[in-house]
Amino acid sequence: MRLILLGPPGAGKGTQAARLVEKFNIPQLSTGDMLRAAVKAGTETGLKAKAVMDAGGLVSDEIVVGIIADRIAEPDARRGFILDGFPRTVAQAEALDVLLARMDMRLDAIVELKVDEKALLARIENRARETIAAGGTVRADDNAEALKVRLDSYRAQTAPVSAYYAGKGALKTVDGMAPIDDVTAAIHRAIGA
Ligand code: AMP
Repeated sequence: MRLILLGPPGAGKGTQAARLVEKFNIPQLSTGDMLRAAVKAGTETGLKAKAVMDAGGLVSDEIVVGIIADRIAEPDARRGFILDGFPRTVAQAEALDVLLARMDMRLDAIVELKVDEKALLARIENRARETIAAGGTVRADDNAEALKVRLDSYRAQTAPVSAYYAGKGALKTVDGMAPIDDVTAAIHRAIGA
């Protein structure tokens, strides 16, 4: 199963991806997680990406496509993967098509979680509260100011990715405002699982 989860920040992509990992025993490839790991490790990529990420902007296509190309080539991704947070621009979606064709792989489904934008700030604030309660460190971009920029990036650059896949007849949409278990069930139906 090769699957893309699309949706704005706070839509529930990470939560649903974690459940799909369990069900299909395939890795979740989150460019956000990989970039945060690079920032933490202080790699060259991390140093380049940090300021952009903290402000809520998008890291360059070149960097994220490079990260995904390396990750998809790893052995655990051979049986399939769930892309979470990638592609975020049409250029990334096109680069992914080229990458997959080169590896003789194809996507099985692209699922978009549709959510009411008004609910997103509360979800992001809730994630920050839960992180603190669990003794973790809150993401530098999980605040109202950065969310505004993240939503602007989403509208301008990522919404066209949905149109890109819809144009190919490959896009399934799921109501991301439903309770978590219902969203999971709707995703299973959408991907024929
Ligand atoms: P996420 O964890 O998916 O919300 O991503 C956190 C941040 O990482 C984003 O706001 C971007 O700054 C950066 N990022 C993650 N994935 C991508 C991507 N595919 N393209 C560009 N920037 C990305």
